[in-house]
Amino acid sequence: MPNIDVLIIGSGIASLTVAAKLCKEKNVVIITKKKIRNSNSMLAQGGVAVAIAEDDHWKSHFDDTMNAGCYANREEMVELLVKEGQRTIQSLIKEGMAFDRDEEGNLLLGKEGAHRARRILHAGGDRTGAFLTEYMIKRVQEHATIIEDETVIDLIVRNKTCVGVITRTEEGNVQKYVAQHIVLATGGIGGIYRYTSNAQVITGDGLAMAYRAGCELEDLEFVQFHPTMLYVNGYACGLVSEAVRGEGAILVTSTGGRVMQGVHEMEDLAPRDIVSREIYQRLLQKERVFLDISMITHFEKRFPAITELCHRHDISVEEGLIPVVPGAHFHMGGIKTNQHGETSISRLYAVGEVACQGVHGANRLASNSLLEGLVYGSRLGELLL
Ligand SMILES: Cc1cc2nc3c(=O)[nH]c(=O)nc-3n(C[C@H](O)[C@H](O)[C@H](O)COP(=O)(O)OP(=O)(O)OC[C@H]3O[C@@H](n4cnc5c(N)ncnc54)[C@H](O)[C@@H]3O)c2cc1C
Repeated sequence: MPNIDVLIIGSGIASLTVAAKLCKEKNVVIITKKKIRNSNSMLAQGGVAVAIAEDDHWKSHFDDTMNAGCYANREEMVELLVKEGQRTIQSLIKEGMAFDRDEEGNLLLGKEGAHRARRILHAGGDRTGAFLTEYMIKRVQEHATIIEDETVIDLIVRNKTCVGVITRTEEGNVQKYVAQHIVLATGGIGGIYRYTSNAQVITGDGLAMAYRAGCELEDLEFVQFHPTMLYVNGYACGLVSEAVRGEGAILVTSTGGRVMQGVHEMEDLAPRDIVSREIYQRLLQKERVFLDISMITHFEKRFPAITELCHRHDISVEEGLIPVVPGAHFHMGGIKTNQHGETSISRLYAVGEVACQGVHGANRLASNSLLEGLVYGSRLGELLL
């Protein structure tokens, strides 16, 4: 293989954003564990948070992010996320990314937990991640080399400098790649939990490799549990987005009692840790918890992917009750980076969910992570140009 300028591990939104910045100028290689579309990014439903409505302001998005994160966030990183996020999304829209609009052509804005304004852009109803990832794949696939079905198993580090990676192919062959710059974009850790929303490929590999290489990690204890996985026969079978509660759905027990009433002032749209803990307590008391969606008109049209998920598991959305359980969803901690994605090891970078530059604090605000991948991915791309 010719000299590799930038070797990126993973094929989610963070990887593709870095690659899109670089791939016309540099020799970029992406290595991914399964197929290019196997990622959490493809599964994202709710959307991308950004303060672009006329009556919204970056400061309000900033405050909501800090509040959800229990003020364990790094303020300067949050400010950068929400301010640069506005510019990043505006240029994405200008370049042709199609977010959902109403009949007059105005962008539709959803609402999710702990946001005080409607600021969630979505695409394809609840298929935002798939639409966004497909859009980025189109920008990258003709210019970058994409190696599928190959798992990176270790970093090659010499004198505190990362010079390449070791991989294992599907057939079990071990390969070595050398590159000028190595970017870890391997996502979070959800796949190691019993109940999770994550894709099977997401098992904390990047974090483990960085740890073995002596790289600095941060905030590993901060794991977000999403309150509402579809719960069927003792298994978590996929995510029921918070955007459903944003449209009015409420959490109830089998006897119809409201789960979040009197627990928090934002009730069903309280921060995720609070809602998850409350549901978990109810489950410990042998109660069953459901999302009552009966008040949402045209549920199938607004949430086609969730409707399809329910039908696949013989749950009828027409009956208005979706059984739910909390599950591991997002890792706020990760490989410690600065605002450009640089790690404590020279020529090794981290971006997206595997990284921790401090934007999420102790608890990520809903729909801030696609934004993180786009904003910090662009910054890293610019650094490596
Ligand atoms: C069901 C679901 C819904 C979500 N909804 C939203 C939402 O609406 N809005 C929002 O902002 N966020 C949402 N999130 C979170 C968000 O999708 C993720 O945080 C984000 O997509 C992570 O992007 P990433 O590029 O860092 O990693 P990922 O998209 O997870 O990609 C990681 C990539 O690394 C590859 N990889 C892993 N290990 C290796 C290895 N050893 N070798 C080679 N390749 C490897 C994987 O195969 C994958 O391609 C959701 C998450 C889930 C699971």
